Amino acid sequence: MILHGYLNRSEKGTYYALDLGGTNFRVLRVQLGGRGSSILGPDVERQPIPQELMISTSEALFDFIASALKDFVEKEGDGSEISLDRRRDLGFTFSFPVKQLSVSSGILIKWTKGFAIADMVGKEVAGCLEEALTRKGLNTRVAALVNDTVGTLALGHYHDEDTVAAVIFGTGTNACYLERTDAIIKCQGLLTTTGCMVVNMEWGNFWTSHLPRTTYDIDLDADSPNPNDQGFEKMISGMYLGDIVRRVLLRMAQETDVFGPVSSKLSVPFILRTPLMAAMHEDDSPDLKEVGRILQDVLEIPDVPLKVRKVVVKVCDVVTRRAARLAAAGIAGILKKIGRDGSGGLTGGRRSDIKMRRTVVTIEGGLYTSYTMFREYLHEALNEILGDEVAQHVILKVTEDGSERVVKMLLGRQLMGW
Ligand code: ADP
Repeated sequence: MILHGYLNRSEKGTYYALDLGGTNFRVLRVQLGGRGSSILGPDVERQPIPQELMISTSEALFDFIASALKDFVEKEGDGSEISLDRRRDLGFTFSFPVKQLSVSSGILIKWTKGFAIADMVGKEVAGCLEEALTRKGLNTRVAALVNDTVGTLALGHYHDEDTVAAVIFGTGTNACYLERTDAIIKCQGLLTTTGCMVVNMEWGNFWTSHLPRTTYDIDLDADSPNPNDQGFEKMISGMYLGDIVRRVLLRMAQETDVFGPVSSKLSVPFILRTPLMAAMHEDDSPDLKEVGRILQDVLEIPDVPLKVRKVVVKVCDVVTRRAARLAAAGIAGILKKIGRDGSGGLTGGRRSDIKMRRTVVTIEGGLYTSYTMFREYLHEALNEILGDEVAQHVILKVTEDGSERVVKMLLGRQLMGW
């Protein structure tokens, strides 16, 4: 993806955006105020994607999304009559692997994060959405099809020009970073205004034989709709962490008597969602009341003694700590690749000679923003890998939620070319 420039603050007007990426999708409308002024309050609506639509047909999924957008557009403005005929431009943030064909079109390579709509693979994504919008009588054109990490990087840059990479830790995980075009072998000789390109890593699919997998990881992968795929994501992201914990608890229940008779709920995939796991992990009550409540209410395991509840917290801790440390290793890998890990500045091996530039990595996603222990373990590991002196120049920043998703659309529409 060639970066021809960065988003500046001169954009003005009303913009729509649609974000489809995981458990929820969002429709947004934002007013941009123009040069010198900031983004004026966006309207946002967030809806869960019904489970059955994630494994249905492309038509069913996009009809559902188009309906939501239509409802949203109809609430536009001051309540006066809305013309559905008026043409609207839409930015579409789509967080699945896509072969980008142009700034506003791309072909779905594969689904991830539990989506499995076979007829959609290989289809042009923006076209499918536009067809559904037309079926609903909306005159709306997809002006930009933007990957969420790339959009997040754009937003990071909009707020802070030292931003070099963007990482998502939500239902799934992915990262992108700014690379010098001349450092990309397949882009040799290509001229861009900035001399840079955004590399969308799709790192959820990273794998190496050096990464040890437990039997829980192997079973989770085998039971998923995309076996042998997204190995890194399955160890790190919010969709999976709770289910890894569930699998450990199931085995404990089967092989010991700590939980009494084996609850059938322990065999239900994804019954223990990551936010529940986080709530158990972060239970700071002396008798671990929340742990007891979740075990009872969600997993139907009653009367778990305190000693065993402590073991459950430990399981959550181990699973999250591993995820956060792998995530940190990924970020350190990006910094190393672009020479921002301090190693380039070493003189005679003395760390005190390092001249590190301020380096910002923008991060987004509910796992990072809402799960304190995940965030703390990630920071701890990154400091450990980089060393304190280098780490003090590396800033992990959360982009504000809401209007940023529209800025991503602007990035696509105005700043990138092919
Ligand atoms: P997306 O589904 O588009 O990735 P988010 O970035 O908001 O959306 O991430 C949502 C994911 O973040 C959820 O699927 C969940 O796994 C995780 N998450 C949300 N809240 C929490 C929480 N309190 N603790 C742990 N994980 C959370």
